[in-house]
Amino acid sequence: MKTRAERLQALKDNPCPSVLIVGAGINGIGTFRDLALQGLDVVLIDRGDYCSGASAASSHMVHGGIRYLENGEFNLVKEAVQERNHLIERLPHLVKPLPTTFPIFKRFSGLLNAPLKFLGLLDKPSERGALVIKLGMIFYDAFTRKQKTVPPHQFRNRKDSLELYPELNPEILYTATYYDGSMPSPERIAVELIKDAVDANENAVPLNYVPLISASGWDVTVKDEVSGEEITLHPKVLVNAAGPWIDLVNRKMGRETPFISATKGSHLILDNPRLKEAIRDEEFFFENKDGRIVLIFPLMDKVMIGTSDLRVDDPDDVVITEDEIGYFFDMIGRVFPDIEVDRSQIIYTFSGVRPLERTEGGATGQISRNHTVKVLEEGDLLDIPVLSLVGGKWTSFRAFSEHAADKALAKLGKDRVISTWDLSIGGSKDYPENPVQKERMINEWVRSSDMGRDRVETLFDWYGTKTSQILADHSDQLAPLPSLPTFSRGEIEWILKGEDVLHLDDLILRRTTLAKLGKITPQSLKEITEICASVLGWSANEKAAEVKRYQEILLKNHRLHYAEYIPG
Ligand SMILES: Cc1cc2nc3c(=O)[nH]c(=O)nc-3n(C[C@H](O)[C@H](O)[C@H](O)COP(=O)(O)OP(=O)(O)OC[C@H]3O[C@@H](n4cnc5c(N)ncnc54)[C@H](O)[C@@H]3O)c2cc1C
Repeated sequence: MKTRAERLQALKDNPCPSVLIVGAGINGIGTFRDLALQGLDVVLIDRGDYCSGASAASSHMVHGGIRYLENGEFNLVKEAVQERNHLIERLPHLVKPLPTTFPIFKRFSGLLNAPLKFLGLLDKPSERGALVIKLGMIFYDAFTRKQKTVPPHQFRNRKDSLELYPELNPEILYTATYYDGSMPSPERIAVELIKDAVDANENAVPLNYVPLISASGWDVTVKDEVSGEEITLHPKVLVNAAGPWIDLVNRKMGRETPFISATKGSHLILDNPRLKEAIRDEEFFFENKDGRIVLIFPLMDKVMIGTSDLRVDDPDDVVITEDEIGYFFDMIGRVFPDIEVDRSQIIYTFSGVRPLERTEGGATGQISRNHTVKVLEEGDLLDIPVLSLVGGKWTSFRAFSEHAADKALAKLGKDRVISTWDLSIGGSKDYPENPVQKERMINEWVRSSDMGRDRVETLFDWYGTKTSQILADHSDQLAPLPSLPTFSRGEIEWILKGEDVLHLDDLILRRTTLAKLGKITPQSLKEITEICASVLGWSANEKAAEVKRYQEILLKNHRLHYAEYIPG
C-alpha cells in the first residue's frame, strides 16, 4: 500500500474520483473493494479507524438469522445463509463453522409470535418453545441443504442434553444444536478486504482519520485529522456508508433524511474457564422469558456474552451500563445456575449501535435487518447523487456491497466486470484444500524459518497464507515477546507497516485481539508501545500521548481500568 502521504497527495492530484465512500465500516469497505475490482478510481474515508463503528460491535456471528424466519423474512434469511456459507468457504482462516445450541425450557410457547407479527399485533415476542424452534431449524436447514457447508441440526432430549452439558440447568426439557459461523476478529476481515482492494487497483485510495466535514454544490470537504489540512473533492457519486451516522452525514451535506432507527447492543467478555468448559466450543443462544435473545459465545479461550437491543437517539458515546451487566449475569444463571460469574471476571466490554432502517414503535428485536440503498438524486444543494447504505448485517456485507456498487456503476454508466462471489479474501487466497496440504505448508514454513511449530500455526490461524509474507519480511524478528509469548516483533512490525496503524489503540483494539482477550498488562503495553514508537517514529511526547489516548478510550468506551503504564 502507498504511504498515507502519497495517498493524500493522490487525492489532491485527482480531486474528482468516480466514487467517494464516506464510512469505512464493513459496508463501506465491501463497496470499496467491489468498486476497486471493477477498475474504478474510488476513495474510502472514515472519521476514525477502519471498522471502528457498528462493525466493531457485532456479536461475531456469521449467521442467517434463524429468528428472522418468524418475521416472515425468508429472502433475508436465505441470502444471509448463502453469504454465511460463502464466508465459511472463502475465508476459512477467519470464519469457522459454529455449533449453536438452544437450551429449551418450554414445549409449545411462542407458537403465536409469527401470526401475531403478521397481523401487526405483536408487541413483545414470547419465549419460543421446542415446537417453534424445531420448525425454525427445519426451515433453516432447508436453505443450506444443497451447499452442505455445515451439518444439519440435532435435537436432544433432557437426559442426553444433561449428559453432554452437565452444567446445564436441570429444568431443561431439550437442547437443539444447529450451525452458523463465527468470526473471532471481524476487524481483521475488514482490513484484509481493504488490502485486497488496494492490491487490485492502484487508484483505490483508503484513508482512516479523514472525516467528511461538509458538502455543497460539487464540493465535498474532507479533513486529514493528522495534519489538520482540509481537501476539497468533487466525486461523481457519493456513497454514504456511515452506518448509524448516515442521517448525520446527510445533514452535513444539507439533506435531512429519516433513514435510521438506531438500537444499541452491548457485550462483555469474561475470563471464566468453568463457563468456557460448560459451553464447550459452542455458542449458547437462548431467550429471556420475554423473548429477548442472549448469547454465550466461545471467543478463543474466553466467553463473550451479549447482547441488548435498546433504542438510542445518539449513536456516539454508547457504553455498557450496570443494568446490562446485571441482566447478562442473570441470564447466565438461568442456563448455568451453578457457575459463578462476577464483575472481577470481566476482561473487556464493548457497545455499538445497529444502523437499522427507520421504524416507529414495536419491539426492537422485530425491526428488520434487511439492507437497502436509498438514493438522493443531485438537487438544489448538492450536485452529486448520494447513495445511503441503510441496514444490513455483517454477514451479508458482500451482497449488500454488490447491490450498492451496481447502483454506483449505473450512475456512472459503467458495467460490472467481475463478481465478488468467487473471490477468496486476504490470507485465504491459495489456502490449502485439505489437511494434508495444510500440513505440508506448515512443515515447509517451520523448516524455512527458525520458528516453533506452535508459533507458525498461530500465525497461520490469524493470517492464513499471508503468513509467508511475515516469515519472509521479518525472519530475523520472530522470537516471542517476553510479555506476549504468542507475538513477535516481526508480526507487529508487519501490521504497523502495512495496515494504516496511526494510533496505539488501532493496533491493540482492532488489528489484533490483544485487548479483547485481556492480554494487556503494564509489561505488554510497554513492550507494544516501544515497538510502535520505533517503527512509526514516535517522539517521547507522542508515545506518552498515545498511551494516554489508549487508556482514556479503554476507560470511557469499554469501562475498563487501564494497565498502569506511564512511558518514561
Ligand atoms: C450490537 C451489535 C451486534 C451485531 N451482531 C451482528 C452479528 O453477530 N452478525 C451480523 O452479521 N451482524 C451483526 N450486527 C450488524 C452489523 O454489525 C452492522 O449491520 C454492520 O456492521 C453495519 O456496518 P456499516 O458499515 O453500515 O456501519 P459502521 O460499521 O458503523 O460504519 C460506519 C462508519 O462511518 C464512519 N463515519 C461516521 N461519520 C463520518 C463522517 N462524517 N466522515 C467519515 N466517516 C464517518 C464511522 O466512523 C464508522 O466507522 C450487529 C450490530 C450491533 C451493533
